[in-house]
Amino acid sequence: MDAYELLKPGGAKTGVFACGKCGLLRSWNNTTAKPANIPPEDHAAQDGHIRTEAERCCRPKVCTDCGGVNESKSWTICEPCRVKHDTRRERARFEKARHLTPAEYGGPVMEPNDRFHMDLGAFEDHYADADPEDGTRPEYVWACRPVKFCIDLRGHVLDHVHEDAADQIDEAGLKELDAFEKQWWEKYGVESWEIDYSRAVVLNAKE
Ligand SMILES: [Zn+2]
Ligand SMILES: [Zn+2]
Repeated sequence: MDAYELLKPGGAKTGVFACGKCGLLRSWNNTTAKPANIPPEDHAAQDGHIRTEAERCCRPKVCTDCGGVNESKSWTICEPCRVKHDTRRERARFEKARHLTPAEYGGPVMEPNDRFHMDLGAFEDHYADADPEDGTRPEYVWACRPVKFCIDLRGHVLDHVHEDAADQIDEAGLKELDAFEKQWWEKYGVESWEIDYSRAVVLNAKE
């Protein structure tokens, strides 16, 4: 950015351009990015290309949404735009969902900011003695549904033995493995929860 051309002592042009911020120098001869449509004798076009490259150096990344400076390394949009997008998406999900009263729902809940509670009682307890930095009590929480674990023992076994050994395990043996896995999960398997975006519990709704 703020590119400028270096000049010889007498003021003649050099075709060497510097980034005004970091001072990195570029010239047609030391650039590897030579566009094929610029002929070797067209020095003006070469200078133009190099000046553009020097101009691009150190230029802040621009948010593709608002055109402002984007300091995020991994996102194409800036942090405020990302927050705006997330808020809009959350709002749309909430409007589409079935709205329940607290009396209509008894399971675990997830706050819109992804804080999980085993039930509404635990949620209320959290906010009963919450510090202000724990955030404000949301107006609704998401219902959750259980997710069952399954690690696909059959697949793991076949992946980890060499081919000949796999051939020795017949379909009956694999079915035995499936049955064993099912039995094991039923006996020891823990349940986990994920957000059910089709149902939201509205906390200040009249019951
Ligand atoms: Zn630079
Ligand atoms: Zn933006």
